[in-house]
Amino acid sequence: MTTYKEFHQYSIDKPNEFWTEQAQLVDWKEPFTQVCDYSRPPFAKWFVGGKTNLCHNAVDRHAAKRPNDRALIFVSTETDEEKIYSFAELQREVERMAAIYKSLGVKRGDRVLIYMPMIAQACFAILASARIGAIHSVVFGGFASGSLATRIDDAKPVLIVSSDAGMRGGKAVPYKHLLDGAIELAEHKPAKVLMVDRGLDKGFNKVAGRDVDYATLRAEFMDAQVPCEWMESSEPSYILYTSGTTGKPKGVQRDTGGYAVALASSMKHIYCGGEGETYFSTSDIGWVVGHSYIIYGPLIAGMATVMYEGTPLRPDPGIWWQIVEKYKVNVMFSAPTAARVLKKQDPAYMHKYDLSSLKHIFMAGEPLDQPTHEWFMNELQKPVIDNYWQTETGWPMLAALPGVEKTPIKFGSPSFPVYGYNLKIYREDGSECGANEKGIAAVVPPLPPGCLTTVWGQDDRFISTYFTLFKEPLVYSSFDWAIMDDDGYFTILGRTDDVINVARHRLGTREIEEAIQNHAAIAEVAVVGVEDKLKGQVPMAFAVVKDASKVATPELVKALEKEVFATVDGILGAIGRPVRVHFVTGLPKTRSGKMLRRSLQALAEGRDPGDLTTIDDPSTLEQIRNALAS
Ligand code: ATP
Ligand code: MG
Repeated sequence: MTTYKEFHQYSIDKPNEFWTEQAQLVDWKEPFTQVCDYSRPPFAKWFVGGKTNLCHNAVDRHAAKRPNDRALIFVSTETDEEKIYSFAELQREVERMAAIYKSLGVKRGDRVLIYMPMIAQACFAILASARIGAIHSVVFGGFASGSLATRIDDAKPVLIVSSDAGMRGGKAVPYKHLLDGAIELAEHKPAKVLMVDRGLDKGFNKVAGRDVDYATLRAEFMDAQVPCEWMESSEPSYILYTSGTTGKPKGVQRDTGGYAVALASSMKHIYCGGEGETYFSTSDIGWVVGHSYIIYGPLIAGMATVMYEGTPLRPDPGIWWQIVEKYKVNVMFSAPTAARVLKKQDPAYMHKYDLSSLKHIFMAGEPLDQPTHEWFMNELQKPVIDNYWQTETGWPMLAALPGVEKTPIKFGSPSFPVYGYNLKIYREDGSECGANEKGIAAVVPPLPPGCLTTVWGQDDRFISTYFTLFKEPLVYSSFDWAIMDDDGYFTILGRTDDVINVARHRLGTREIEEAIQNHAAIAEVAVVGVEDKLKGQVPMAFAVVKDASKVATPELVKALEKEVFATVDGILGAIGRPVRVHFVTGLPKTRSGKMLRRSLQALAEGRDPGDLTTIDDPSTLEQIRNALAS
C-alpha cells in the first residue's frame, strides 16, 4: 500500500523508474531507449525511440483479446438512435475509415481536420487518423465559420471530415453550411471534404471534385485491412486549439507515446476504470476532455465509452441517470455547469434510476463551487471528484487519486498535485508561496508525459507563452491563481488572464471584442465576463460607436445591438454573443492604454471597481455606471 504522498514523491524523485513502470500499461512495437530527453529545456521528449500507435492501444489490442466486448456506445436523444460497437466492430469501422483516408491521399504527418457532431463516425474519424499516423485537429461544432477558418489556416489540413448537421436541443446546426463558409474565408483550401450524410439537412451544398460521400466510399472498403503505422513516441498525434485569449488560438501539439502512457496511467490511478467497465463523459469531442476521456483514455483502458449527443435535460432531466442504469456506467465525467443545471431540477429524476454500478463522478473545466460540490455528492451518495487541468496538459494536474489512496474529499477543492507534476504556487516575484497564500500555479519542468510538446509550428511561442512568467526559475505557468491549505489541498481561484466561460465553453474576451469590432459602426469595445448563476459567466460588451447619431434614440440603440449580435453570431457562433451591448462614449483605461477590465467587470457585477489610481479618465466609469443602471 502506497499513500498518495509517497506516490507523488516517487514520481518527482525517480521519474525514470516511475514512468518506466507506467509505460508497461501500453503496448510498444519497439521499446524506448530513454525515458525522458530533456536536453533542450523546456522541450521534453518522453519514451525516446519507443514505437507505438494510439489506435492499436485503444482498439486492436482489445479486439484481439475480447472482440465481442462493448467498445463504443453511441446514444443520441436528438435523433433517437442507439448503437453499440464491439471492439471488433470498432476496429473494422476504423479500418474502413482509414482506407478511405488513404484513398483520398492522406499520408503520415498530414493533417485531418474533424468538424463533426457527437456521432460514432467522429470517433472512427479520430481513431483512423491516429491509425495511419495522420495528425487530427478536431474543431468544436459550436464554432462558426470565422473561428473555423482561423484553425483551417493554421493546421492546413489536406482533408476535412464533416457532417451535414448536428442537433442540439431539437434544433439542427448546419455544420456543412458553416464549413463551406469557413473554407471560403480561409486562405488554405483542403483538397477533399469527406461528408457523413445524416439526412438532417437535405439541401446541403455539394462541391463537385472536392466533397465526397462517406457511405459510398465505405461500401467500397468494407473488407479493408489497414495496419497501424508505428510512430516514434514523440511524433505528433494531434493538434487542439485553446480558446484563444490573444485573438489567435494556440495549437496545442500532443505527442503519441507520452500521451498513451499518461492516459493509461490516469485511468488506473485517478479514474479507476478497467477492462469490461463503462465510462460516460458528457463532454464533447471538440474539447480536450473529449479527446482524453471520451475517446482515447477509456478505450486504451479497455473500457466501453459512451458518446452522447444531446442535452442533460431532454427528453427529461433524468436522461443521464437513465444512461447510467441502462449501460451500467462505472465512471462518469462531467462539468460544474451541468451540475448547476441539474441542481435546479427535481432530484427525483436522479433517484428514479439504479445507479449502483457508478463508482465515481469526476468534474472539471471550471471551478466547482463548494455548495454545488456538496449538493451533488449528498444527492448522489457517490464520491464527486474535482480535477483541475488544461487543454495544454491533456490530463489532470490536480486531483484526488482514489486508485492509490482514498483521501477525504474537501468541497470546492480539486485536492492535490497529480504524480508527474511538480506543481507549486508562486508569488509574482518568482518566490514560492507558503500555505494559505494566494499565488500563481506553475509546474517545474519537464512537464510530465501527455502534456503539450510545443505550439503547432511555433516553438518560440511555446516558450514565450508558457515559460516566461519569471526570469528565474524556469516554470510552466498555468495562468491560474491558486492557494494551498494547511492539509495540502489546493483551490483554484480563477485565471490571471481574461477568459469568459459560458456554460463550459471558453471564449477569450479578446476574441469576442474582435468579432464585435467587425461591425462597421463600432469604434472600440471591451468585453467582460459577468457572473451568471446558470452559465457560470456571460459576456457583456461596452462599446463606443464611431458616430453618436447611431445611438441617439432607444430604438436605434436596440437596432444596433441586434446588428452587433448578428455580427458575433456570424463569426464566433451564438456562444460568443454578449447578453448586452452597452453603448458609451469612452472606456476606462490606464494611462498606459490598458483596458481596466477588472473594474468594468466589478461594476457590471455590482461590486467595488477597486484600485483606480492609474485610470486615465475617471468620467468613463460614471458612464459605465449610468449605462448599467438604465
Ligand atoms: P485559453 O488558454 O485559450 O485561454 P482556456 O484556458 O479557457 O483557453 P481550457 O484549457 O479548456 O481552455 O481550460 C483550462 C482552464 O479551465 C484552467 O486553466 C482553469 O482556469 C479552468 N479549470 C479547469 N478545470 C478546473 C477546475 N477543476 N477548477 C477550477 N478551474 C478549472
Ligand atoms: Mg488556458
